[in-house]
Amino acid sequence: DELKPQNLVQIMHDVIFLMRGQAERKHVDIDWTPSSDSTLTILGDASQLKQVLINIVKNGIEASKDGGKLKITASKTNGHAVIEITDNGEGIPADKLAKIGQSFFTTKEKGTGLGLMVSYKIVKNHHGKITIDSKEGEGTTFRLHFPLFLKKV
Ligand code: ADP
Ligand code: MG
Repeated sequence: DELKPQNLVQIMHDVIFLMRGQAERKHVDIDWTPSSDSTLTILGDASQLKQVLINIVKNGIEASKDGGKLKITASKTNGHAVIEITDNGEGIPADKLAKIGQSFFTTKEKGTGLGLMVSYKIVKNHHGKITIDSKEGEGTTFRLHFPLFLKKV
């Protein structure tokens, strides 16, 4: 598809709206702090970007205990747009971290491992990257980094 300037704050807002129900059913509180920076714009495909964020938010809710918390921020760092999604759920053991995003890796009984595999591909196609910080039993942060779209003047 054609890449267009996309406001990541708007996209994140839409994704949270879509995922609200699933979070509420598990009493997971979504703490979303939108950047006041209206120029958090990247070049991309809105539906693909939403697909990535839905996958990561969904995984965060699934990793959470009932009553857990999902903290989501969007910010600008070093010429990059960064979205952080942090849960205080089960965490990812160190030996499994390296396998995340690779062919059909899943630890869920009815999981597919497709979500992150597709997400890594989409983010790469957007010249971005995904980094993960996780501690078993404490929680996980997924960080999405994208080059900012700079308007020509
Ligand atoms: P699926 O959700 O179908 O298992 P994904 O590709 O979405 O497939 O995720 C792959 C695996 O990565 C999951 O099975 C899980 O082990 C791990 N994972 C992803 N996100 C988290 C998270 N927030 N907390 C703990 N584990 C996670
Ligand atoms: Mg998943």
